[in-house]
Amino acid sequence: MFRFVSKEKVLVVISLIFLISVLASAENVRICVWEGTQKPLLESFKGKYRGQLSLVKFNGKYFVINTMDIEEYLFGVIGKEMGPSWPFEALKAQAVCSRTLIYYYKEIAAKKKAIYDVSDTIYHQVYGGITSENEALVRAVEETSNQVLAGQNDNNGYNIIPSFFHACCGGHTCSASNVWGMRSNDLVGVEDPYCNGTPFYRWSKTFNKDEISSMLGMDVSSVTISEYDEGGRAKQLEFSGKFGKKYMSAEKFRMLTINGSTTFSSSKTLPSTMFSIMKRGNDFIFNGTGYGHGVGLCQWGARTMAEEGKTYIDILKHYFPALTLMRINKSGNVSTLVPLVEPEPSKGG
Ligand SMILES: [Zn+2]
Repeated sequence: MFRFVSKEKVLVVISLIFLISVLASAENVRICVWEGTQKPLLESFKGKYRGQLSLVKFNGKYFVINTMDIEEYLFGVIGKEMGPSWPFEALKAQAVCSRTLIYYYKEIAAKKKAIYDVSDTIYHQVYGGITSENEALVRAVEETSNQVLAGQNDNNGYNIIPSFFHACCGGHTCSASNVWGMRSNDLVGVEDPYCNGTPFYRWSKTFNKDEISSMLGMDVSSVTISEYDEGGRAKQLEFSGKFGKKYMSAEKFRMLTINGSTTFSSSKTLPSTMFSIMKRGNDFIFNGTGYGHGVGLCQWGARTMAEEGKTYIDILKHYFPALTLMRINKSGNVSTLVPLVEPEPSKGG
């Protein structure tokens, strides 16, 4: 039937049908598993993913999009984001966080009318398809099926709150308002004794004056911490030199050191903003703890909690004291969230 129509037109028609069908099903997620300017062979992606694979051309680029049920998507996420053989209750806590985040990213994508909801990289959540599934991961998703974290809104209803996570908080998690200026009391900082002594707990990185000057684009002679958050994390840095003084959020500076790299392990990236700065000659030595932005679930802390016999609910309560564990209905309509755990009676009464 497409004999007299150009290949491009066929592609557009297929893309439109595809987009309409996925927009109608709120329980699905659309993951971009490949993008590039050369047209790929869709066949080469088959067998690696559950759900449907589609090739979409948009703004001169090709995208391979994997559309699938959110629960099945999580089978291929939590082992990549946490570790495929981590303690089971920690995996369940990760499943709830990853599920909550995907509903949050879907909301953002819907507002932007984006052609997919998430990438398969650390910019959203790392997703590896079928090859990154195992029996425990599937069970962790199934045993927490449809459970998400939500916060109360002004109308006495509940909203999905992005339950971010990071590798290691370094002793205190960070509120979302401190690190990103998010207007939210839902993601607060908590003291965390559980990650102490875990692999990413302590680190030291050295940058010389020239490296910092080139990152900032000005001749920097001194770097100090000008503001801390309540958990002891650097909030703002002061850079000075002949130019005078320049202030920058510590998280923004950390991102400058990462500079688009998808790995945090380089000797020239700052793992977290929980650090002190020491000057030695032309070197600035950053001695720190933790790995990641510090907001929400501390994964290494969650691992210790699980090893000590805590449940995933204990873990989520510890890292998200302001949120409520709820069940989301299959339409993805957040107004129908129902509490799974009754709020504790207020203390002091
Ligand atoms: Zn921690």
